Amino acid sequence: MLLVQKFGGSSVADVSRIKRVAERVYSTCLEGHQVVVVVSAMGDTTDELIELAHQVNPSPSPREMDQLLSTGEQVSIALLSLALQALGGDAISLTGAQAGITTDGTYGKASITAVDTQRLRRELEQGRIPVVAGFQGKAPNGDVNTLGRGGSDTTAVALAAALRADICEIYTDVEGVFTADPRLEPAAVKLPCISYDEMLELACLGAVVLHPRAVELAKIHQVPLRVRSSFTTDLGTEIKEEEAMEQKRVVSGIAHDAQVAKIGLFDVFDRPGIAHTLFSALAAEKINVDMIIQGMTRDGRNDISFTISRHDLPQALKVVERVKESIGAKGYTYNDRVGKVSIVGAGMVTHSGVAAAMFAALSAEGINIEMISTSEIKISCIIKEEEIPRAVRALHRCFSLERLVDTK
Ligand code: ADP
Ligand code: ASP
Ligand code: MG
Repeated sequence: MLLVQKFGGSSVADVSRIKRVAERVYSTCLEGHQVVVVVSAMGDTTDELIELAHQVNPSPSPREMDQLLSTGEQVSIALLSLALQALGGDAISLTGAQAGITTDGTYGKASITAVDTQRLRRELEQGRIPVVAGFQGKAPNGDVNTLGRGGSDTTAVALAAALRADICEIYTDVEGVFTADPRLEPAAVKLPCISYDEMLELACLGAVVLHPRAVELAKIHQVPLRVRSSFTTDLGTEIKEEEAMEQKRVVSGIAHDAQVAKIGLFDVFDRPGIAHTLFSALAAEKINVDMIIQGMTRDGRNDISFTISRHDLPQALKVVERVKESIGAKGYTYNDRVGKVSIVGAGMVTHSGVAAAMFAALSAEGINIEMISTSEIKISCIIKEEEIPRAVRALHRCFSLERLVDTK
């Protein structure tokens, strides 16, 4: 078998953990399998590098940030390769560029555009264990690009797809995908399996256990994907097509995102082109808009509010300042202390009353819903950031998710 095994930051946080990862990888090789390893930066290295950059420059340029952040993973690949070599494994570390990963040139949140597997295949054929730096690739101009926070998962899935690996295993600090973030809801239970679609929604809605683009790529290329713990032998959670699942759960999980900001514009003109002017100006700055609400017209005027990632707020406010006059806005407000809670489930399509149950649970907690958005398999509400933990627990109880999985 050919396996891609990815180890996240907490799995390689210190020397003893790196040694444990090396043992795990090497034992898979000794069973007769080929393994390509992908690693993240050690522990909180990426956060520390970001902090360092801000100490020397309050608005660091995206190119230099990528140059800086990509070093975190390079430390890990060399150390893990050395640890493998100490065990007798013929490991070789490769940066994203050396592993043949090409990206689209967008600093800070690049997409992988191609994977040239020649080098990796050559190393595998020679019996080596390639250890690849996650989260990075080579831009068309030769620069380093990073893939956005959590992007090492995407490196692993992209390599698994390009190499047609038998499985891609994502090793992390929890035993798999849970019904909610176990850090917030101790009663959350591990799901033995989940569909690509549900996992994609959860990941997009804030469940950081998998990078959204990794799930998307796995679905497109039908990569068998598993989330497992680096610290136990539990089989973890399998991510697969919905048709292959035995039961369709109404609600499979709850996601939360504490990093949201909301902007509201008052009294914009009620005529064609207004939404276009505002949202194309935001898109031109590569700001991702999530929920959008346009109110009822009165006297030829309208209110528009929308949410974005909190990180993008300063940039978004500059755009609003620039376009507000041309769209007739009499003013605007913003709130950078909101968050989003969402319920996700493939069975929601055929069940009524799910939204009503969600709103009832939030109201029973006295939590005010500021915005709502729905799709076939999810319902999201914007609430005050500080109310997120309470909301997650109330929803978990409301849908009895602690009993979702037979733990006998
Ligand atoms: P890594 O460094 O291994 O990539 P991450 O911190 O990116 O690890 O992802 C693992 C974390 O994801 C867990 O510690 C957990 O707090 C969080 N998480 C959020 N939602 C979920 C969920 N539904 N199931 C499991 N973990 C979750
Ligand atoms: N080191 C990067 C981050 O912290 C990428 C990753 O861990 O997936 O976001
Ligand atoms: Mg991660």
